[in-house]
Amino acid sequence: MGSRLWAIGKENSSCPIAVTIMSSTRKLLDVITIREILAKNVLTKTGIEGYDYCINPYVGCAHGCRYCYASFMKRFTGHMEPWGEFVDVKMNAPEVLRRQLRRAKKGSVLVGTVTDPYQPIEKRYRITRGCLEALLEYQFPVNILTRSPLVIRDIDLFTQFNDISVGLSVTTDKEEIKKIFEPNSPSIQSRIKTLKMLHNEGVSTYAFIGPMLPLAPEKLIETLAKVVDEVLIDRLNYSNKVRWLYRNAGLTRYLEDAYFMRTASSLKEGFENKGISVSVIC
Ligand code: SF4
Repeated sequence: MGSRLWAIGKENSSCPIAVTIMSSTRKLLDVITIREILAKNVLTKTGIEGYDYCINPYVGCAHGCRYCYASFMKRFTGHMEPWGEFVDVKMNAPEVLRRQLRRAKKGSVLVGTVTDPYQPIEKRYRITRGCLEALLEYQFPVNILTRSPLVIRDIDLFTQFNDISVGLSVTTDKEEIKKIFEPNSPSIQSRIKTLKMLHNEGVSTYAFIGPMLPLAPEKLIETLAKVVDEVLIDRLNYSNKVRWLYRNAGLTRYLEDAYFMRTASSLKEGFENKGISVSVIC
């Protein structure tokens, strides 16, 4: 997911079981607090344009992007840990979802609006996969957004859906910029490789250039045009914390509205010239 406030799902959880585990993506001594919880609802109505429901298999996100708007979730869940250092796992999400799907009116589902559904813990718990299996039984149209190559694991499910789209957030083409704003998320190179693999398997793919970080449009167009069916561009929500990051890294010029407008327009023109449809969210 990206920087925009998409939706706040009404989610109720109970029976938390706190465990602390090592994260494979962090340094050895770095830990993330994992709680196993039970959710009362998983399929949540959303006001996001073009979608009926959203699903978030986890609360919190170990990717801990520094600009992440979803850190507001802390206010609702009572977490004291910094954003990126806790994850609640909705252990019963697939069963609850199945129960909800039996009665729900068919509609399109966004997976991952306030968490990354394929963050590292998914490898162990497979909650996102369980939810997709339930959605597949009912053939609800699905849109998934992630930053992680782990999504490739579920290609076998994606190819069975009548209507599915899988997006990778590609916020910049520069690994050094990624390291400043998304220090714990997978490399940009690995995301592009992931899009390629999905695309080659016939899965409909999109790149979410959001939030748009400093980037070289020509390079990104050249790389992505071969592996996506669609592109979405969104701007960063420039909170004080994010502004400070830009200033500290000597990137202040990229904060200007003119930079976003100019770059978004180059991206749009470049992709459209290659027959790729582009939506710019302003
Ligand atoms: S990957 Fe996780 S931390 Fe990064 S923007 Fe998405 S939800 Fe936020």
